[in-house]
Amino acid sequence: MELIDRAAGFGERIAVADRSGTFSYAQLLTGSARAAARLLAGGVDLEGERIAFMVEPSFDYVRIQWGIWRAGGVAVPLCLTHPAPELEYVLDTVRPTIAISSDRYADLLRPLAESRDIELLTVDEVDADPVGLPMVDPLRPAMILFTSGTTGRPKGVVTTHANIEAQVESLVEAWEWAENDRILLTLPLHHIHGIVNVICCALWSGARCDVLPAFDAAEVIDRLSNGDLTLYMAVPTIYHRLIAYLEGATDEEVARFRDAVGALRLMVSGSAALPVPVLKRWRELSGHTLLERYGMTEIGMGLSNSYRGDRVPGSVGLPLPAVEVRLIGDDNESVSDGAPGEIQVRGPAVFLEYWERPEETASAFTDDGWFRTGDTGVVDEGRYRILGRTTIDILKTGGEKVSALEIEEMLLSHEAVSEAAVVGIDDPEWGQRVVAVVVPNGEVTADELRSWLKARLAPHKVPKEIHLADSLPRNAMGKTLKPEVVEMVLGSR
Ligand code: AMP
Repeated sequence: MELIDRAAGFGERIAVADRSGTFSYAQLLTGSARAAARLLAGGVDLEGERIAFMVEPSFDYVRIQWGIWRAGGVAVPLCLTHPAPELEYVLDTVRPTIAISSDRYADLLRPLAESRDIELLTVDEVDADPVGLPMVDPLRPAMILFTSGTTGRPKGVVTTHANIEAQVESLVEAWEWAENDRILLTLPLHHIHGIVNVICCALWSGARCDVLPAFDAAEVIDRLSNGDLTLYMAVPTIYHRLIAYLEGATDEEVARFRDAVGALRLMVSGSAALPVPVLKRWRELSGHTLLERYGMTEIGMGLSNSYRGDRVPGSVGLPLPAVEVRLIGDDNESVSDGAPGEIQVRGPAVFLEYWERPEETASAFTDDGWFRTGDTGVVDEGRYRILGRTTIDILKTGGEKVSALEIEEMLLSHEAVSEAAVVGIDDPEWGQRVVAVVVPNGEVTADELRSWLKARLAPHKVPKEIHLADSLPRNAMGKTLKPEVVEMVLGSR
């Protein structure tokens, strides 16, 4: 694995800094070899066994991720905010042999693991005297990340070591990562953005990654104001919150921030459309023009504004190195410049398959091997612009992808709900705000439904608003008319 081979050359340089201290590349290599030894437990190769882990962003997270890879396992990072039913879904889908939990999540994970005969280890237990480690072919699966689709529950996106390497190499080249870089991580580590764009790119380059366990606006502004970072990457919702924080801060705080943040060489936004007002306000406050890029769990990063050249607000720039991109119209032909089409992507960074969903994998690719992203784009003055999704049933809220249908199905399984429609309403903070309209068939309040959903769905899927209605607008076929549902919600204000 090249990521790990390269680390040997970075020796005593600091790889990761977290609340508990700083850790060198040498410590990461030793720690991950010891983790691998424990996971192997006398065996020679995990041969693609899935290892689930629920660990805060930290040195331990990276040590365990590398340990899984070095033992020949497939890393399945669990979302730290998932309630039990979402975790059970992931565990039942990937059937891990081992689950690893930090202290904080042990009580939640233990009963779920025990009832499934999954061995549960604490972070400290993932440690044993080193043994010989297997040679892992780069074409073997490395990781499964869950992502929402239009049909049913989330799908597991399987990427190989070679896919991850291609994703990393492309970004390292385009954004000129170097050994003396230092990045602040405030993104969750069950999502490609934090895992690949931040951690893997940093560690590939011999750079240093300063890790915060969770996002906190005051702490991030304070860290950015220290003047020791070179890079920062986040979703638009985070920039929106940092702007709100700075707007309420003292003149002194803002001045300290502004003086120091100039030392950063690059600030990136992605995972959802960056509203132009956010880009402009951030430029006023920080002096930085955010570099917007477009990507997806399945493809890594696909399009990016230029690191050195102009960054055009509202545009996502051009294909990244080693990524082929095309726009295809309804007639299945390439569109002419200025016409919208579905973004399709090909190249070594594109994922292997959806976990145990061969039909969905097959239908996600064209006959000639292009991945259909489900996003519509257009080339404007030589640069790509994202127009939206080809389906309104996929929402993006706070940078997280959400299936409206999954939430509707969950609502419909409640005994007092007879009809439900979930829509995304444009929102300056969230990008889209998840909103549900429910037709009840019994005594139920919106608050009761929200608490009920909270116990079953990840927090970002729980609607910010639930409206009770007498009926939903439908067409002659009985299908809910979503644009009318949006109007209904907006009209009710
Ligand atoms: P995920 O797999 O969670 O990273 O979600 C990928 C989806 O996020 C893409 O298919 C797009 O719909 C959306 N997305 C990512 N980056 C951008 C961007 N810069 N502008 C608009 N949408 C984006």
